[in-house]
Amino acid sequence: MNYISTRGAGIGERHTFSDILLGGLAKDGGLYLPAEYPQVSADELARWRALPYADLAFEILRKFSDDIPVEDLRELTRRTYTAQVYCNVRDEENAAQITPLKTLGVEDGAPLSLLELSNGPTLAFKDMAMQLLGNLFEYTLARHGETLNILGATSGDTGSAAEYAMRGKKGIRVFMLSPHKKMSAFQTAQMYSLQDPNIFNVAIDGVFDDCQDIVKAVSNDHAFKAQQKIGTVNSINWARVVAQVVYYFKGYFAATKRNDERVSFTVPSGNFGNVCAGHIARMMGLPIEKLVVATNENDVLDEFFRTGIYRVRRSSETYHTSSPSMDISKASNFERFVFDLLGRDPKRVLQLFRDVEEKGGFDLQASGDFARVQAFGFVSGRSSHDDRVETIRDVFQRYDTMIDTHTADGVKVAREHLQAGIPMIVLETAQPIKFGETIREALEREPERPAAFSGLEDLPQRFEVLPNDAQRVKDFVAAHTGA
Ligand SMILES: *Cc1c(COP(=O)(O)O)cnc(C)c1O
Repeated sequence: MNYISTRGAGIGERHTFSDILLGGLAKDGGLYLPAEYPQVSADELARWRALPYADLAFEILRKFSDDIPVEDLRELTRRTYTAQVYCNVRDEENAAQITPLKTLGVEDGAPLSLLELSNGPTLAFKDMAMQLLGNLFEYTLARHGETLNILGATSGDTGSAAEYAMRGKKGIRVFMLSPHKKMSAFQTAQMYSLQDPNIFNVAIDGVFDDCQDIVKAVSNDHAFKAQQKIGTVNSINWARVVAQVVYYFKGYFAATKRNDERVSFTVPSGNFGNVCAGHIARMMGLPIEKLVVATNENDVLDEFFRTGIYRVRRSSETYHTSSPSMDISKASNFERFVFDLLGRDPKRVLQLFRDVEEKGGFDLQASGDFARVQAFGFVSGRSSHDDRVETIRDVFQRYDTMIDTHTADGVKVAREHLQAGIPMIVLETAQPIKFGETIREALEREPERPAAFSGLEDLPQRFEVLPNDAQRVKDFVAAHTGA
């Protein structure tokens, strides 16, 4: 398996899965994709139906990572996808399934269900990929005798998923910047209560954008970055995307009985990582009818899928919503999809993403390429705060099921795209406890709290407060790496 950049640099070079695992962007600023998508035969699909999650993950990942010895990969996936790690299930009987499918009911002739992706340690779907990344990083670093210092900025979900994936891992330290006193008590406690010596919570006196600017400033200091072996785990990481392909297969098998059936998925979307994995599953041959992209008020993606116009927003135009993990101004994984949409023409991708930087976007309306959006099965919709509140209330009353605000965006938009006879699977991306304020508004009651999280806010916290100053962060990193 060879990987290529969406912008075409290094055509003819070889990049294996392990080569691109620890890196971010390709050197021309593009994103890595397999030179071609591996295909799943009818025989394989039939055989995979009965596999437990970990073994399904192994079968899918081995097609993308043929440079990792199969026995190592099998051990890695079995260690990652265990009922002990994904233990925060709402229904005990489901623990072994890792991503249980919860049937809600039949609406407009379509079976409607939720695929639970948030039963991992931080109660958000990012655990599904990040836990694998932690084990893959540790394995690869050990093989090459290297170490890695991960530097990141978070407003909540990503940072905690990264910390829980990397805690205690050999050869890895995590320096995670978060805005001091700006996260919810629950999210703060989730991150700051970690006592592992390789995890460093840095509370910056500022807002999330300040944290992100510091990460950029440090990353642009190439000498420092090389000397301190700084890396990232952001959503463009290829291994994160490919790990997410697995649950589309798992969800398909859970919602169907035979492999000639089709299903649709609705995906609460921000950086387009999750739904990009659905697109890849479809390109591999999984019988997906529609991929429904659900956004909140930050509707860059919905606008594109309705009109063919991609117009990124300025940060002043980005709304802070009650589904905050979808508050994005541009979708960092979108380029992967555009590459396929344009028939894998790197010159045009390069031009379009130059237009994004110089003119703030591009317009595919007039070109024939936009018609292919339909062939790829993509449709979209958006929701508002009122829609979320209404949907949370409705799903609770009708189906006795509490959903979080991001999943509510998904259910609201899924209902606009139901087709009789075709199961609609909404990806559940977080548990309600993470966004309790809106649950209280919608239901006038407390969100459900998994047993393992009782008393979380009372645990001792370990963090360092630093001023909004990149140099001070560099000094802090250097002091703790000893390099
Ligand atoms: C990250 C996140 C999303 C958005 O996923 P993308 O892969 O960025 O599209 C949606 N919901 C929750 C809860 C998240 O944490």
